[in-house]
Amino acid sequence: MPTDPVAVYVHIPFCPSKCGYCDFNSYAMEGDVIDRTVRAIVTEIRRSRQKGRPAKTVFFGGGTPTFISEPQILSILEAVFETHPPIEGAEITSEANPGTADITKFVAMRRGGFNRMSLGAQSFSNSDLLTLGRVHRSDEIGRAFSVAREAGFDNLNLDLMFGLPGQDGTGWHRNLDTALALAPEHLSLYCLTIEPNTAFYRLQLKGQLDLPDDDVQVAMYEDSVARAAAGGLEQYEISNFSKPGFECRHNLCYWDAEEYMGYGPGAVGSTETEFGRIRYTNLKHPDGYCKAIELNLPLSCDSEILTDEMRRTERIMLGLRLNRGLPIGEVLLKHQAIDKVVAKGWAEIDGETMRLTPQGRHFCSEVALELI
Ligand code: SF4
Repeated sequence: MPTDPVAVYVHIPFCPSKCGYCDFNSYAMEGDVIDRTVRAIVTEIRRSRQKGRPAKTVFFGGGTPTFISEPQILSILEAVFETHPPIEGAEITSEANPGTADITKFVAMRRGGFNRMSLGAQSFSNSDLLTLGRVHRSDEIGRAFSVAREAGFDNLNLDLMFGLPGQDGTGWHRNLDTALALAPEHLSLYCLTIEPNTAFYRLQLKGQLDLPDDDVQVAMYEDSVARAAAGGLEQYEISNFSKPGFECRHNLCYWDAEEYMGYGPGAVGSTETEFGRIRYTNLKHPDGYCKAIELNLPLSCDSEILTDEMRRTERIMLGLRLNRGLPIGEVLLKHQAIDKVVAKGWAEIDGETMRLTPQGRHFCSEVALELI
């Protein structure tokens, strides 16, 4: 077993309700099932074959991690720390829904070891939030932000989405400016995508989803990059911006195709084993996941050994998203393809590195397909 530090992800699959656009592994459940799942997650972590391997980052995502109680959150974090002792300065993040902010919980989480919080704001417009099916309202975002600061979090992210039904450029400016006025260390800005098996997908099929057209979405994205930069947040990935030194180190592990442990229902991990790099996905539904843990049955619903070619493909698809680019020769091998995307103005060469141009960021998948 490798002994070097690894990224650790924990999936908490519960939410107060299901948002209309959500295709994450999340369930609007409450009561005993939460206690049972928390116990199962703790057991899974304690049984890890990679026990003893230090954590360089820990990320609690979901779902809504802050929907569960602070003793439940902290019991899982304690199991993580016992199994993967954090290295000095490890980044320990939890996602949080602004509607679930509570000073007692946030203080307990900060004292328990979390040092970064990511607030799922999505929009500062109540009408957007209602459309999206979010449980929080606009004024709760600023309140959650202040509560997090008061609790001692000096590394805060806000998630916002653009391209929402009925949203125009002015509405998006207002959202961005309100977010920037809070002075977060990090912003994640994603365009809404309509995924199959969501309420939004069904509305779209019926022609009942009034989405901004592609040109408006492109303008919203360009505007985000310019406004974030003017607000002191540097773009380091297609959708992510931070103050210098506050890039999300956990997500950088994904984009750099490094190893990561995944615990909890539906969590995905990618780790080195005696057979090579294996990517696995845990059983998704909390009931099936808990049964597997309780009966000591296999926990993965999917696993595969990644060949060298699959790993290089993954490295290109993920690494291209980063502003720092990818090394030529080591990862990018097809020189004709590199020349082609450079000639199109989608990429530029800097010494031994190739990176997307601002124009190329709109064609990341096309560039990746050329290079693979
Ligand atoms: S809060 Fe997030 S995970 Fe939960 S339902 Fe909404 S989008 Fe999905």
